[in-house]
Amino acid sequence: TKWVYAFGAGSSDGDRNDKNLLGGKGANLAEMARLGLPVPPGFTLSTAVCTAYYANERAYPAELDAQVEEALAALEAQVDKRFGDPANPLLVSVRSGARASMPGMMDTVLNLGLNDETAEGLAALSGDRRFALDSYRRFITMYSDVVLGVPHETFEDILDMFKEDHDYTLDTEITAEQWEEVIAQYKQAVQDALGHPFPTDPRTQLWGAISAVFGSWMNDRAVTYRRMYDIPASWGTAVNVQAMVFGNMGETSATGVAFTRDPSTGDSGYYGEFLINAQGEDVVAGIRTPQCLTKSMRERMGDTQPSMEEALPEVFAELTKVFDQLERHYRDMQDIEFTVERGRLWMLQTRSGKRTARAALKIAVDMVAEGLIGEEEAVLRVDPSQLDQLLHPTIDDAYQRDVLAKGLPASPGAASGKAVFDSDEAEAMAGQGEKVILVRVETSPEDIHGMHAAQAIVTARGGMTSHAAVVARGMGRPCVSGAGEIRINAGEKLFTARGRTIRQGDVITVDGATGEVLFGAAPMIKPELTGDFAALMVWADKARRMKVRTNAETPADVQTAREFGAEGIGLCRTEHMFFDADRIAAVREMILADSQAGRVKALAKILPMQRDDFADIFRIMEDRPCTIRLLDPPLHEFLPHHADDVRAVAEATGVAPEALMERARDLSESNPMLGHRGCRLGITYPEIYEMQARAIFEAQALVERETGVKPVAEVMIPLVAAARELEILKVRVAAVARQVEAETGVAPIYLIGTMIELPRAALRAADIAAHAEFFSFGTNDLTQTTYGLSRDDAGKFLGDYLEAGIFEKDPFVSIDQDGVGDLIRIAVERGRSARDDLKLGICGEHGGDPASIGFCESAGLDYVSCSPYRVPIARLAAAQAAL
Ligand code: PEP
Ligand code: MG
Repeated sequence: TKWVYAFGAGSSDGDRNDKNLLGGKGANLAEMARLGLPVPPGFTLSTAVCTAYYANERAYPAELDAQVEEALAALEAQVDKRFGDPANPLLVSVRSGARASMPGMMDTVLNLGLNDETAEGLAALSGDRRFALDSYRRFITMYSDVVLGVPHETFEDILDMFKEDHDYTLDTEITAEQWEEVIAQYKQAVQDALGHPFPTDPRTQLWGAISAVFGSWMNDRAVTYRRMYDIPASWGTAVNVQAMVFGNMGETSATGVAFTRDPSTGDSGYYGEFLINAQGEDVVAGIRTPQCLTKSMRERMGDTQPSMEEALPEVFAELTKVFDQLERHYRDMQDIEFTVERGRLWMLQTRSGKRTARAALKIAVDMVAEGLIGEEEAVLRVDPSQLDQLLHPTIDDAYQRDVLAKGLPASPGAASGKAVFDSDEAEAMAGQGEKVILVRVETSPEDIHGMHAAQAIVTARGGMTSHAAVVARGMGRPCVSGAGEIRINAGEKLFTARGRTIRQGDVITVDGATGEVLFGAAPMIKPELTGDFAALMVWADKARRMKVRTNAETPADVQTAREFGAEGIGLCRTEHMFFDADRIAAVREMILADSQAGRVKALAKILPMQRDDFADIFRIMEDRPCTIRLLDPPLHEFLPHHADDVRAVAEATGVAPEALMERARDLSESNPMLGHRGCRLGITYPEIYEMQARAIFEAQALVERETGVKPVAEVMIPLVAAARELEILKVRVAAVARQVEAETGVAPIYLIGTMIELPRAALRAADIAAHAEFFSFGTNDLTQTTYGLSRDDAGKFLGDYLEAGIFEKDPFVSIDQDGVGDLIRIAVERGRSARDDLKLGICGEHGGDPASIGFCESAGLDYVSCSPYRVPIARLAAAQAAL
């Protein structure tokens, strides 16, 4: 088996299509080398090595050693240096690179191959002893941290102490001879911590680093990250071993990170940061404040340090040529890492850049205009779940801002919450339903759970490509980075800025669009979905086959959904209306009545209110279909549970509290979700469904007379298990329709159908379809009943199931395509065999989940229905599913 793939100097064993095998970084390095771009040569240990390593109790395949030796020899020949040769040493970097980019999650080692002898060789070769020793101390720090488990603080402390003793503020003040002293102390620290010396043999170093990178695939933060982004553990990571180039060789050397377009806004124009005389990790780590890439960016940010365009104009010109070439080649915005070694440009990475939803839309729409991609490709470029970000509010323009501090606008959107200074605490508070803002000096991959739990993130240090900025943009969290005015005292749980003190728990607001941190909670406004958003939606609507409806019952929600493009209502849960203040008393009177006559009397009070509810919906939806579900939950849900409420209800209804309690006891069930609910209520209490049907048909007549538009009702019977249930109820509903027509002279347009939310209903779909004009898959209950897994209790142990890999995803969020999906496919086939014009939709929560929407397309459903705010997401996901 081939485990090792070489790249460099115009040729490569692999290319961009080999991401699964070589990881994203490896595949793109191979591709760039093929394009003839200046890529330091190297080789990639494939993801298959990682998989084999974990399958064999962390042992490597037998052929690996020989293949690495061969690749190393070829690399030595290519750069004309030798690994471990004191006279002419080859140094390498060792980096991880998984299929999907996992920024900062796994480990990297630079300057590998250094020891006392090769460091002298590097000094002689470069003519710069200080540089050689700077590289050496960086190597000891990184290697010890990543491979040997001696934390980098150990070395930072030594260095800080050394600088303090010599009254230095900058690392650059330290001379070559002094670095020697520091290095001696570093080595002693390793000896003290481990009881053995720092490894000097380059091959030992190399295998140590390779194993550390493969090992980092299973570290806690990588595991957390994978779970968050649904990346399977089975993918594994690749390891890239690459000849070192040095950004720390003096004032004509530099290292940087760039995007070919602005990843926050999508604006065209290069965007990025760099550091003179520095090595790769310095930029991302946020240790020094980086300089802007371009002059215009520097001016915009009011930065006083020169930009790369000004400081290194020739290399900058060469770099931008590479940007253009890569963007044209990949036909997408690229995220690029580069190093300049004594005026010579080297490319270290390219990949499709992570971007905000706003930038994703703008870039997709712009690239269509630029002729780089077509409309359908543009539709495929935007991640539907990401659109969620655009539905986030922004701060009301009219609001008088009380600015506490200003930093960089690192990730857009605005949010308010309580200041918290620790990620564990942020997670804990968010778990209790608190909205929190994570405030840190800087973030590291260890903060990922705190960032996820927070509404927004503020850092005192770090640039636009700092860890906080990159991760926040990916997560869609607003972020202000590098707010240097903020002085954080994490121990005391407070920060000060502009003379004020904010303690943990005080509410602040973050505006990721302006970079401001405000005192208090600012009022927010709903975003408008125009411009690029609207353009993309037009293309998406052209591409999709399935319709998108909404689950809504209040006029406000129905209106919002309409504005987001809902093409009808897929589920109006009428029980939500029963709780409204003006009618809950009548609902309870109906439930408490001990005779049919008593119920009918109470229902007569509810009828006009229900009619008005439906009329409101029909007015907004006009002639679009509205699926209205007849009462579903068990009746005891409407009764009061607490003694205070019981007393109040007793007073209002004139029923004795004891009688009320007794009725509640009568109705209580040990398993309500499988109890007296859904169509079973309709069978027992025909008058309830008859009242609801009447309210629907009368509302149709009312609105039609009022507006001239004919409303379309789809009357839906829930929880049907047997065809006969539906047969009985359908006859009654149809009878009400005829009565209302006779009374009003208006013939309502309506269908009668059912929900498929029980396995038996799916299996007996042919019999049921004989009486149903439509099916709507209630996948919340269908998941619950297929798995026998309570939707209300599963949350308590679902985490264990995800952890153990028993479920890949929460089946209540993303549909179980194998099991629940099989039942749906069976129901579709059997249902259509009985009635070929059977209308099919989904109204469980899955109707707003992009992966489940993909499944619905393949199952041949006619529409999906989801909550109002997910309608745009569903429109895009349905389009992608159809393409
Ligand atoms: C369902 O079960 O999927 C459904 C939409 O109904 P509810 O969530 O109201 O039970
Ligand atoms: Mg249900």
